[in-house]
Amino acid sequence: MPVSVLELFKIGIGPSSSHTVGPMVAARRFALELKKRGILTRVKRIQIDLLGSLGATGRGHCTDSAVQLGLRGDQPDQIDPDKISNILNVIKTESQIDLLSEHQISFTPAKDICFIADEIHPFHPNAMRFWAKNKVGEDLLCETFFSIGGSFVIKEDEQNPSAQKTKTESALPYCYSNAKQLLELCKKHKFSISDLMLANEVARGISEDQLREKLLLIWDTMQSCVARGLETEGLLPGCLKLRRRAPSLHRLLQENPTLTQHDPLAGMDWINLYAIAVGEENAAGGRIVTAPTNGAAGIIPSVLHYCFHILQDTNDDRIIRFLLTAAAIGSLYKENASISGADVGCQGEIGVACSMAAAALAEYRGGTPVQVANAAEIGMEHHLGLTCDPIAGLVQIPCIERNAMGGVQAINAARMALRREHQQFVSLDAVIETMRSTGSDMHAKYKETATGGLAVNVTEC
Ligand code: SF4
Repeated sequence: MPVSVLELFKIGIGPSSSHTVGPMVAARRFALELKKRGILTRVKRIQIDLLGSLGATGRGHCTDSAVQLGLRGDQPDQIDPDKISNILNVIKTESQIDLLSEHQISFTPAKDICFIADEIHPFHPNAMRFWAKNKVGEDLLCETFFSIGGSFVIKEDEQNPSAQKTKTESALPYCYSNAKQLLELCKKHKFSISDLMLANEVARGISEDQLREKLLLIWDTMQSCVARGLETEGLLPGCLKLRRRAPSLHRLLQENPTLTQHDPLAGMDWINLYAIAVGEENAAGGRIVTAPTNGAAGIIPSVLHYCFHILQDTNDDRIIRFLLTAAAIGSLYKENASISGADVGCQGEIGVACSMAAAALAEYRGGTPVQVANAAEIGMEHHLGLTCDPIAGLVQIPCIERNAMGGVQAINAARMALRREHQQFVSLDAVIETMRSTGSDMHAKYKETATGGLAVNVTEC
């Protein structure tokens, strides 16, 4: 069942969609459930167990901060990122938290949030267990949630995907579950991929005007994110003490136009710059559009900025179409494989974002649905097997530069697909299935646990 464009692109905070935004959403859902059952005011203690990958890299990904915010009732798209550290300091120094800003209890983050890396839930490596206890220590409620990538969250009793199918979704006029069906529908109805996606979105109950408004807000948020990344100096949080490089690279490019005057690939510097600016904002916990994850959030904005500043042929309609096409492709990965680094490695984050951006750019530049699917396929094919091995569990190295690489590769993938004269050999469905099975075979140390790859071969803090 296709996922909505508004679910694949969501406004939130850095540094991680699965390890920050998802846990924040889960914690809020738990607190709301306590309220719904009428037991919120009987709660005296909350304990949170962060299992598997959340236990292994949760500190570097700010999972502990995120669950505290969620318990307070904060929402990822509404909280002001500049106020977060103050909120967390108050909780820590007062050893108290206000559940949904309604009921205050004692809470000591270092004691009440447990990182349990070696307990891996069989359903998904990003599991969280929330406990609420009364004044004599009895359980009032215990619930397990999974953060399954791209800030999507499900509860233990929602594991069966068919149980999640809503009435609206089953009424979609152009339902597809793989790329082959998507292309057949486009051919039959003489649709572009964005046409088909738009028709499905409207059938979900949103007007075209409302959808436009929401997607332009997404684009506006991406632009603000790039702008902040270009001007914010200093060190990124965490023990690596990594210096932000986007501002100095920006100055270098602006002040030295001759540097790239006779270089036909000069645009690459700018694509790198836009992607790094987003990656650094994400690493700093700033306002981010999940696209389709936070770790890979720089790729789609960098390619859109390429259209806006380098091709200089954008308008609102073309931006909206770009996002719709990207989402149609992202949905295929979400439904048939995974967009979680903890589940399938970085191929599910950087690889998927590259594939989405390549497809969207191919349609933007006049490609047919077949060429769009081919661009998506190329964008993923050369990321197959890409591991997730963030140094010190921070979404910084290799993540930030990897966005720059993904942005440039997306543009190249679209170009190759558009220039192709013969039918492609590998289908998009085949590469998605290969990504899924490669991820399933991948050793756990390469799946967002910071126990393999660069995370162990580079001296960190
Ligand atoms: S290595 Fe890739 S998947 Fe892992 S945290 Fe970084 S961007 Fe996300």
